Amino acid sequence: MLKTKLMQLLIVSAVVLTAGLMIRAQSGEQAVLAEAERISKDQFNFTVKTAKGAKVYGVKKPSPEMLDAIDRGLTDLFAVARKNKYKKRLKYSDYIVFIAKPDRQKNYDGEYSPDIAIGAAQYAGTIYDKGGYIYAAGMVIGYNPGAFIIGEHTKDFNRVADVVRFEGEHIVLYHNDRKRYNETADHSKGGGHPILQ
Ligand SMILES: [Zn+2]
Repeated sequence: MLKTKLMQLLIVSAVVLTAGLMIRAQSGEQAVLAEAERISKDQFNFTVKTAKGAKVYGVKKPSPEMLDAIDRGLTDLFAVARKNKYKKRLKYSDYIVFIAKPDRQKNYDGEYSPDIAIGAAQYAGTIYDKGGYIYAAGMVIGYNPGAFIIGEHTKDFNRVADVVRFEGEHIVLYHNDRKRYNETADHSKGGGHPILQ
């Protein structure tokens, strides 16, 4: 039961507006920054690197716990990617993580769930649609560099590590297995995380 709930939360870690992003993503870090600001309506005033070398943008100064959780999520991602014989984008420095200000702190069951509200796009009319927008634990912003947004957490950092790993799955698949990427990118048609076993 609990596991089902967690999956429902994380299933919404979506790839929205994929076609548009692929065009934007070609122009690099400034483009993903602009896209992250557009989607979150936040200003990312702080940039730091994790101990292992991933780049992190924050609205506030990212906490050590957030930075550690990002490294842990990427470590788990790279391990499962190697298990699947994927070789590309397995360096920490291949990734940029945007820590946005959450648009809610709790889910509809009252559980701690700092999530970001984003335009519903292809999720319109599905169970995730909360009136033109959905709450997402995370969202891919671009593929070159690999970039995604997550909400700032002040506790439950294992959830952060999971969301990082799950968003990273889309980026790893994009670069290593385009067919599988296409089959798994859009959760509105079913399917969730983890994708890689
Ligand atoms: Zn996803």
